[in-house]
Amino acid sequence: MRFDLHIHTTLSKCSQLDLEEMLTAAGSKGLDGVCITDHDTMAVRHHLEEGIQANGLCVIFGMEYATTEGDFLIFGPFEEIATGLPASKLLNQVERAGGVAVAAHPFRVKRPTQEYLVSQGLCRIVEGVNGRNQGTENAATSAWQDQYGVAMVGGSDAHSIAELGRVTTSFTAPIRSRDDLIGALKTGAFTPQHPDSPSQ
Ligand SMILES: [Zn+2]
Ligand SMILES: [Zn+2]
Repeated sequence: MRFDLHIHTTLSKCSQLDLEEMLTAAGSKGLDGVCITDHDTMAVRHHLEEGIQANGLCVIFGMEYATTEGDFLIFGPFEEIATGLPASKLLNQVERAGGVAVAAHPFRVKRPTQEYLVSQGLCRIVEGVNGRNQGTENAATSAWQDQYGVAMVGGSDAHSIAELGRVTTSFTAPIRSRDDLIGALKTGAFTPQHPDSPSQ
């Protein structure tokens, strides 16, 4: 199943991606699912029901959580999580709650992920391919794969329809809910897909 794990709707001030348009476009772009990861909010839950939509698209709610030591895509029961936590505290809280955290665009020049968070195993999944990164920023993540054995996902980081689905993650297991996604991310049975690779 092909998922875009990193999408911003207009609930993120920086995004132009309308929720309704996104649902339609994701279907026509051949995506099986999307994760809505607005900046520091899961307010999308007030606008849409999570899960399988009328057009068959699986929509999962997460969040892109900003810290001074990097940004993290978090999936779990984090509707009411306090913002502004230090990264290590956040990652511990995600772990305790049975959730999953992904280091978003870890080598982005602006606010990169601090290496100790990965080398000490506080975060074990990184966004190896981000649709808005420079090629060099994506390529740099392979060093962490070699050194620390981190798993890699891909996400478009879409802030517009044009960006939606440019980078995806392919999962071997079926995903129909947030719990399914968390389970799949914990098993490591997934691969990132680059923008120019053939879809499957
Ligand atoms: Zn943004
Ligand atoms: Zn983002």
